[in-house]
Amino acid sequence: MYVAFRIWNNYLLAREPRDRNAACDRFMDKMSSLTGVFHNEAMSFDRETGKPKHFQAGSLYFKGAPSEDTRLDLWFPDNRRTEECVSAYASLYPLITYYLNRLNDWGLCFRRCKVCGKYFLAKSQRYELCSDKCRKAQALQNKREFDERARENNYDLLYKNECQNWRNKINRVKNTAGFPADRLEKKQAAFADFKKEALQRKKAVKTGTASPKEFTDWLYQQSNVIVKLTEY
Ligand SMILES: [Zn+2]
Repeated sequence: MYVAFRIWNNYLLAREPRDRNAACDRFMDKMSSLTGVFHNEAMSFDRETGKPKHFQAGSLYFKGAPSEDTRLDLWFPDNRRTEECVSAYASLYPLITYYLNRLNDWGLCFRRCKVCGKYFLAKSQRYELCSDKCRKAQALQNKREFDERARENNYDLLYKNECQNWRNKINRVKNTAGFPADRLEKKQAAFADFKKEALQRKKAVKTGTASPKEFTDWLYQQSNVIVKLTEY
């Protein structure tokens, strides 16, 4: 916001002089000094470790920049040195490089929040969430996923049990001497039909076009079908 205000303010001033072109050049020079830091990689950090990049006094920027752009004052406003003040004059560059170094001293690293995507500073890489708000959102999401998995396991399990039920009944018939082959085939065909429809219905639950209850209700009805086929 400070930068925005300063740009706006300088723009208003630049409109006043009679020689508009010269005023425009002065304005552009000043503003490119002020915002130069945002045009290059000064504010970067190591993507792997989150460590702020170390300040390089020998960098191209510092070799080529006017001394005013690199000027930085540091002082301690109280005797106990509990606070420090830093000021820059023409550019934000020295402020940012200075504090990147300080962040290194303090052992802080940059992290990107898993929920909202904002960057924040953390004591270690273990931190993945920026705030209580995002921690709450993540906890809610975890719970939802857990419930979803539990529900999924429930109807999945019921389906698997039902398949086993069919297999058991078919196997029993296979081992029965003298059981008519055409009736065995009929059972096997019915089982194939059952599996085919069950998979379609399961898919519908997954995509949300059917409820898990509709699926489990249907599964219970199918138990009767196999029982009837066996009774013949
Ligand atoms: Zn966040």
